[in-house]
Amino acid sequence: MIISMKPHATRQQIEHVCERIREFGYKVHSIEGEERVVIGVVGVGDVTPCLESLEATPGVESAVRISAPYKFVSREFKSEDSVIRVNGAEIGGDEFAVIAGPCSVESEKQIMETAEGVAAAGARMLRGGAFKPRTSPYDFQGLEREGLKLLRKAREATGLGIVTEIMSDRDVELVAEYADCMQVGARNIQNFALLKSLGSCGRPVLLKRGMSCTIKELLMSAEYVVAHGNPNVILCERGIRTFETATRNTCDISAIPVLHELTHLPVILDPSHATGKRSLVPAISRAGVAVGADGLIIEVHPCPEKAVSDGAQSLTLADFHALMRSLDPYIELWKEACVGAAVTA
Ligand code: PEP
Ligand code: MN
Repeated sequence: MIISMKPHATRQQIEHVCERIREFGYKVHSIEGEERVVIGVVGVGDVTPCLESLEATPGVESAVRISAPYKFVSREFKSEDSVIRVNGAEIGGDEFAVIAGPCSVESEKQIMETAEGVAAAGARMLRGGAFKPRTSPYDFQGLEREGLKLLRKAREATGLGIVTEIMSDRDVELVAEYADCMQVGARNIQNFALLKSLGSCGRPVLLKRGMSCTIKELLMSAEYVVAHGNPNVILCERGIRTFETATRNTCDISAIPVLHELTHLPVILDPSHATGKRSLVPAISRAGVAVGADGLIIEVHPCPEKAVSDGAQSLTLADFHALMRSLDPYIELWKEACVGAAVTA
């Protein structure tokens, strides 16, 4: 059950509600929003007597029963789509948001050239890893702080918001100083210590689905971040591991409409990691727009053959420009079809 307090509820009223919840034998999990306090009621058993009592308690606006195990991120909790703002761009609203950039930040020249190029083609945010989760300890691990500084330079030059990966709870403060959006990669999606610390990082969080992660598990990971105080979460389908080897991962395109039914959080698609192959990125990008994704995150490199990571799936700047123009008519249709559709679904 979730209790939404009235915007001007007093401290005393909030404390009284928390006390009543405890008297009924439940635990309290409250989130202080900008406008109001929302209280999660956690526990087992029939909540009806508690719900009826709280509905009539001063300062309470509404008490809603939530059957899903993920409470705050569920559509039951909030029927309207959440719109997440990242440095002036919006994800989940009327705008189709494209995030583009290299897999890894490699040099000033590489990131500046990419940033200028993707901005000119219509991307709204720049991606680029400074901390890289690599399967092999012998592979390039990222430029770390130097990489973050280069991303900042690219933002200063282009105005693009920065999306970059955070791998450890130890680095949250450092990465948050430079990033406009903190990316949690597929390999860290169940790093619960990291998810908890992102609750108070002060930045939106982009959660990428793990390669063996169910939709429910992805939503539970999002719940960690929101329950720890950060409502600004974006979800990303990036392909899952199946028996198929023709693509790097299997793009679970149905995850996008499924997630839109289950959660109010925005959902984007990563056609680069979902396929692992540059030639497949345009088709899967179009599929993402068609199923109502709120945006795309695409790997782009000025010279993919020299990329230190994920060159095979990276588009050149010219490819990216061509892709963006080919998506324009689809995005027009997306605007007509998607705005408000999820609410009535
Ligand atoms: C990435 O975005 O470069 C990345 C490592 O992605 P994922 O975590 O989805 O594998
Ligand atoms: Mn990559």
